[in-house]
Amino acid sequence: MSELLNFNYPPEPATDRVTLFADVILPLPLPKLYTYRIPYEMNDEVSVGVRVIVQFGAKKVLSCIVADIHENAPADYQAKYILDVLDDKPIITAPQLKLFKWIADYYMCTLGEVINAALPSALKLSSESRIQLHPHYNPEEDEIIFAPQEEKIIFALQNNQALTFTEVGNLLQIKSYHKFIKSLIQKEAIIIFEQVSDKFSPKVVKKVRIAEHFVQEEGMLEELFNQLTPQPKQLDVLLNYLQFVPVHQDINLNYRGIEKNALTNNPHLSASSINTLIKKGVLEQFDQIVSRFPMEHESQQLPMALSEHQLQAKDEILGLFKEKETVLLHGVTGSGKTEVYIDLIKHALDSGGQVLYLLPEIALTAQIVTRLMKVFGDKLGIYHSKFSDNERAEVWQGVLSGRFQVVIGVRSSIFLPFHDLSLVIVDEEHEPSYKQYDPAPRYNARETALMMAHLQGAKTLLGSATPSIESYYNCKTGRWGLVNMTKRFGEAKLPEIELVDTRREQQRKNMHSHFSAKLLNDIEERLKRHEQVILFQNRRGYAPFISCDECSWIPKCKFCAVSLSYHKFNNELRCHYCGYHERMPHDCPACGATTLRSMGFGTEKVEDELKLLLPEAEVQRMDLDTTKKKNSYQQIISDFESGRTNVLVGTQMVTKGLDFENVSLVGILNADTIINFPDFRAHERAYQLFVQVSGRAGRKGKPGSVIIQTRDPLQPIFNKVRSNDYQTLYEHEIEERMRFGYPPFTRMIRVTVKHVDDKTAENAAIVLAKDLTDRLGKQQVLGPEVPYIFKIRNLFLQEIHIKLPRETTNLKSAKGQIAQAIFNLKLLADFKGVRIVADVDPM
Ligand code: ADP
Ligand code: ZN
Ligand code: ZN
Repeated sequence: MSELLNFNYPPEPATDRVTLFADVILPLPLPKLYTYRIPYEMNDEVSVGVRVIVQFGAKKVLSCIVADIHENAPADYQAKYILDVLDDKPIITAPQLKLFKWIADYYMCTLGEVINAALPSALKLSSESRIQLHPHYNPEEDEIIFAPQEEKIIFALQNNQALTFTEVGNLLQIKSYHKFIKSLIQKEAIIIFEQVSDKFSPKVVKKVRIAEHFVQEEGMLEELFNQLTPQPKQLDVLLNYLQFVPVHQDINLNYRGIEKNALTNNPHLSASSINTLIKKGVLEQFDQIVSRFPMEHESQQLPMALSEHQLQAKDEILGLFKEKETVLLHGVTGSGKTEVYIDLIKHALDSGGQVLYLLPEIALTAQIVTRLMKVFGDKLGIYHSKFSDNERAEVWQGVLSGRFQVVIGVRSSIFLPFHDLSLVIVDEEHEPSYKQYDPAPRYNARETALMMAHLQGAKTLLGSATPSIESYYNCKTGRWGLVNMTKRFGEAKLPEIELVDTRREQQRKNMHSHFSAKLLNDIEERLKRHEQVILFQNRRGYAPFISCDECSWIPKCKFCAVSLSYHKFNNELRCHYCGYHERMPHDCPACGATTLRSMGFGTEKVEDELKLLLPEAEVQRMDLDTTKKKNSYQQIISDFESGRTNVLVGTQMVTKGLDFENVSLVGILNADTIINFPDFRAHERAYQLFVQVSGRAGRKGKPGSVIIQTRDPLQPIFNKVRSNDYQTLYEHEIEERMRFGYPPFTRMIRVTVKHVDDKTAENAAIVLAKDLTDRLGKQQVLGPEVPYIFKIRNLFLQEIHIKLPRETTNLKSAKGQIAQAIFNLKLLADFKGVRIVADVDPM
């Protein structure tokens, strides 16, 4: 009876028992945040920035981030309960959350899309996430104490390679099983993985070192020796360790230890003695994450002593930082900007802040990492898109915990949980690849880095030999500081640039396919002198298209409005937009003739022909096709560095930040397609590309030269490149930009309308453009127009370009209007299924 009563009349809650709600960011493109109820017993555990597990929709269970906590129940739906809390401490920091909101607003996307891009998959959990045993956890050997539920999971994993979260829930027959997963991760018995490719990727090495107290306390090491004297085998192990790690010379060396393998693989040492020493606590085992970058186990070094020019640049930068948030370092290729950065990073670390050093994807090479590693050692974190999710999660946690004070990374490192930034460096700031195209958020890492620094009161240093027009304009107007380095480091001179008129050479029969006699001669000469050559061609594949001599048939992609490129190595025709490929036909499918001919040329053809023309040359190619595998990029670079190859043929990949001492000639095979690209930035880009690729020649003492092949040597851009005349380029470009209303005088937003039916896409674009014109004014809206490539992946495209005058537009309200127009269009029955993408500051 009393039980029944109890059931009907639950005890009054204590008066101070508040009901809390959390607004959470789900990693999905949802327009708003959802509110969940916090179970009373979790009130103390839930805080802003932690991950919680919630149910979304009928079935899906996933992790999300708490963005706000309050006492207001949602008005229009019944809040569901939070199921579990995953973190003790926030994994997203307060300034980060602010930045994410800025990204969502500025780049017109949802906070969920930002979070989704920001978090490494290993930190995003859902009912489909999977766990496996930690690659270095050995159930037989490692003694970890588990809760019974944990043991059950481990046991199941020993039988099944992997379990999904749902399966774990079923196994334990409970709802709140996440805490056991969390605990097993902390005990390093399991890892979470999202992709099968991440499984067992080598990333952790088992290491050993002498237990700290033997080293730290005076006389303990001698004492240890005395104790071990009766066990000569164990003594041997210890002596062997000390040979690798001379702790008696510098006790700090002990911390890094050595790989356990170095001892266990030594046939002169007894395996059981090693284990005994570990059991006794004389040696301690620990795991170390090893980077994909080959790392030298050198002790830390001091930075190089700066030259007079470098010192001056550094002093100017620090001086300008006193009054400005942002400084641009305009230093010619080879001026030694990296050493200036290193010095400034050291300076920032000494005063206790964090540093982010951003580089474009392909400029982040072992060369630069090794250089920084030598100076910053364990404090340096590396964030690269080729890293596995678990490695990325490691870096994330390392930044959070303060283990990494400096991070060198690519575009996406602007998402890392910095909370105490004092300096951000954006190297090669002109690089278009800082901009993400697809999917949302379509952010520019340079702009985002500036905002991040601003939000955390940090300074930003941008660096380039060929600054973007927009950045230079900011210096000219006094918003940013400007520092120049006009000389190369040491005695090195900028290369001589020579033009070869390919049209004229053709008439004179001086062309060997795509090589002028001049270029070929010069390559040969360099090879005789044991020097190296870089050849640049802007296209990959063998030929951009093929055509039938008889009937002019040209194979096109089935899904995109582009011709198929010919790739000779696998005899394929391939679409560079969607990846569609088919076998190269033997004869023409249209008329049956056997006269199919390749037109134009790409890197593969350059490589092929050079091998025929100069059989003694060791040629290697670096482009998207040869660098697909994880380490192939590093391999190609190290082959070239060591001199195993002497000619490197490649796309843009060869133009970025590489520093080879022995390269004395750079050849640009066809400059014309680069200059004539239909875009208002074409000249700026061409200048940047030519100067950057030329910059690879003649570093460290050896004079270098550059040969540019063109059909139009009178193009004014060549003079600017030859005389390294950025000023004239800038003045010309900025005037054009002003006259035609391009950035930096306007902000541009490109709205792309996509649909499988071309008429629907067109009609939708017309309606949208009309609405946008009504809202923003006639001057501001251009189009719709059909882009040059009018179909990609079976979707027809229409583009509307919006130009907002920088000084007079209220950007926030304009974006609101655009979002509203897009929203309204999608409601129209005629335009169901139309996809619309807004790209802010498109490149
Ligand atoms: P940038 O990034 O400006 O193109 P780098 O930083 O690559 O130039 O420097 C060019 C070359 O000069 C590199 O080989 C670098 O090692 C060398 N160098 C730069 N500064 C110093 C220095 N202070 N001492 C010794 N070598 C230096
Ligand atoms: Zn034909
Ligand atoms: Zn295609």
